[in-house]
Amino acid sequence: MQDSYEEKLCLNCGTPIKGRTDKLFCCSRCKNEWHNRLTGEQRRRRERVFNTLWKNYKILELVMESGDPLPEIHALTDLGFRPEYVTGFCRRRGGRDEYRCFDISYNKTEARLYNIRRAPEIG
Ligand SMILES: [Zn+2]
Repeated sequence: MQDSYEEKLCLNCGTPIKGRTDKLFCCSRCKNEWHNRLTGEQRRRRERVFNTLWKNYKILELVMESGDPLPEIHALTDLGFRPEYVTGFCRRRGGRDEYRCFDISYNKTEARLYNIRRAPEIG
């Protein structure tokens, strides 16, 4: 690689970086701060997704306990159910797409869920 006179700025604090042009940070403290912050954001994102899935799971359990075989999706979304969050999806013949939320599986139409059941454990 040739010498570059382009000024690079520290990803963390924006200070111009002296020395090697492949450096991303001005110092090890900035490198650690940047990585710690990234890790924190990833952790929060993962928790948000997991909490959404867990809420779906608890709602599906409530529906199974209630014995309602054809709950309306809008009634579930009123409780906080988010149909776009699933842990698994399987396209079945005849359009009976099967969705999973951990060990609970279900099918759905435009308006309702049906066939909500505990799926056999995988593996
Ligand atoms: Zn810095």
